[in-house]
Amino acid sequence: MSKYVLPDLPYDYAALEPHVSGKIMELHHDRHHRAYVEGANKGVQRILEARAEKNFDNIAALEKALAFNISGHVLHSIFWQNMSPGGGGEPQGELAEAIERDFGMFELFKAQMIHAASTIMGSGWAALVWDPVIHRLGTTQIHDHQSEVTQGGLPLLVIDAWEHAYYLQYQTDKVKFFQALWNIWNWQDVAARFAQVRDLDLSIANAAESAPPQAHLAH
Ligand code: FE
Repeated sequence: MSKYVLPDLPYDYAALEPHVSGKIMELHHDRHHRAYVEGANKGVQRILEARAEKNFDNIAALEKALAFNISGHVLHSIFWQNMSPGGGGEPQGELAEAIERDFGMFELFKAQMIHAASTIMGSGWAALVWDPVIHRLGTTQIHDHQSEVTQGGLPLLVIDAWEHAYYLQYQTDKVKFFQALWNIWNWQDVAARFAQVRDLDLSIANAAESAPPQAHLAH
């Protein structure tokens, strides 16, 4: 059976300094992310064992823990790639057009993402997501790693708003961290994710007014 694996960072721990310290990156990747990977593999194993024993008494708790750990693994894996030492600036091409169409302008998208991250109650994430039902970009708040997720929404750019993501360096000034991330966003990565999902068909017929995907976007 396949296993979840901790991916290597695509750059050195200190590569994102001064915006994110090397110490934070090391702890965040090697300790926190690793714990979610191990938790996800353990969770799959526990459900497998419960099923073998035909004992489903704890299935709710097992599924809840599994969703937490798998989602933590997925979000961190995206987050590492969303950042780059050579990042920053603004996206180009079709992603830029889609952001302008769905948020009005880049600056409004940026402000919305930072507010979404800053107002999370407790631990969570802000994400730029693609809605494949009505073919639009939007933002969402994810509590912990998995709660309040809109089904079908596909994450393209994510902000880790857990304290472990910034506290060593930014202490209580988390908004400063959320703003600093805009110096290192890897827009090529976000654009590549967008290109992969923009024509996705969920095959849920009659769930939206019919309009061809990307009707407003010039190809
Ligand atoms: Fe994290």
